[in-house]
Amino acid sequence: MRHISIGKTWLLLALLWATIPCAARAQAPELRWWKGNTHTHTLNADGDSSPGEVAHWYRDHGYDFLVLSDHNYRTSVEELQREFDREVELDEIRAREDKRKPQVSKFLLIPGEEVTDKFDKAQIHVNALASLRVVGAQGGKSKTEVLQRNIDAIIAAGGVPSVNHPNFAWSLTADDLAALRSLKHFEIFNGHPDVHCQGGGGWPSLEDLWDELLARGVRLYGVAVDDAHYFQKWGPRESNPGRGWIFVRAPALTGEAVRRAYEAGDFYSSTGVVLEDVRRDGRTLRVRIAREHDDDAKFTTFFIGPRGKVLAVGKDLEASFTLEPGTAYVRARVVSSRGENAWTQPIFQN
Ligand SMILES: [Zn+2]
Ligand SMILES: [Zn+2]
Repeated sequence: MRHISIGKTWLLLALLWATIPCAARAQAPELRWWKGNTHTHTLNADGDSSPGEVAHWYRDHGYDFLVLSDHNYRTSVEELQREFDREVELDEIRAREDKRKPQVSKFLLIPGEEVTDKFDKAQIHVNALASLRVVGAQGGKSKTEVLQRNIDAIIAAGGVPSVNHPNFAWSLTADDLAALRSLKHFEIFNGHPDVHCQGGGGWPSLEDLWDELLARGVRLYGVAVDDAHYFQKWGPRESNPGRGWIFVRAPALTGEAVRRAYEAGDFYSSTGVVLEDVRRDGRTLRVRIAREHDDDAKFTTFFIGPRGKVLAVGKDLEASFTLEPGTAYVRARVVSSRGENAWTQPIFQN
């Protein structure tokens, strides 16, 4: 009898042991970066490829998630998502049989829409991320009213609004954007060649516009996107994919986790620079740059404050800056010697 009770004790201890790491994991889920593009077109509007072809391009180029955002059109992604999930399952089965590591990673599709409206000559496009139904253009009697009505309609449809390409057709100024309620995101980089991200002729660049708004106390997160339309024809004058994206920090690749991190501003924007870590310690913003390839690229980190003032410059792979009382915010832009960028979100005085 004695050996049975010892066996039971060991079984109990083993069971207890097995539950400890799980419980620890549940308390502190490991966060990691997930790469995604939140602005893409397909044949459901003025793109040149089907939602399936577009999604495969992103999956096959190392992205973890994608938002399909056609003009006033919401593509349902459920069936496509099931196809991607089945590919992952089949690969896992084959990998077990062949005793190799799985090669196909999970890919997440998030529904969306580019709510496409205008006022006079102004093009007013507001992206909806994770909206539950079609929103469509809401109209209005001024630029700000059109923007606000579309933002409100996106939120009512369960989505997260983001104002797209303010300089497209030289449409939106700081005054137009400063008056808006419930807006937390707008594009600071868009890969479409005709949306004038750099500004010019007296118009601010999207980054200058961001600093003007932040200096006025308008707390907006900056998003980099592709706005890709063409996957068949390639060239610098075509709106091709792979030019601007975000990395969100989340415990899992699920629609809910990605949305939560995006809404909370736990993401950075990039056109090529990869960050290992972005951290806020009190009033200090810390950035750690990843050396992606074994190459000789060099990096410069600009810590930028109100109205674009450069507060400090970092020359190493790690850089940090502490806000002094009286400076409203700081954000970091990392530039590589190849001309690629990463933009962190700002941290504020309080
Ligand atoms: Zn647009
Ligand atoms: Zn677009």
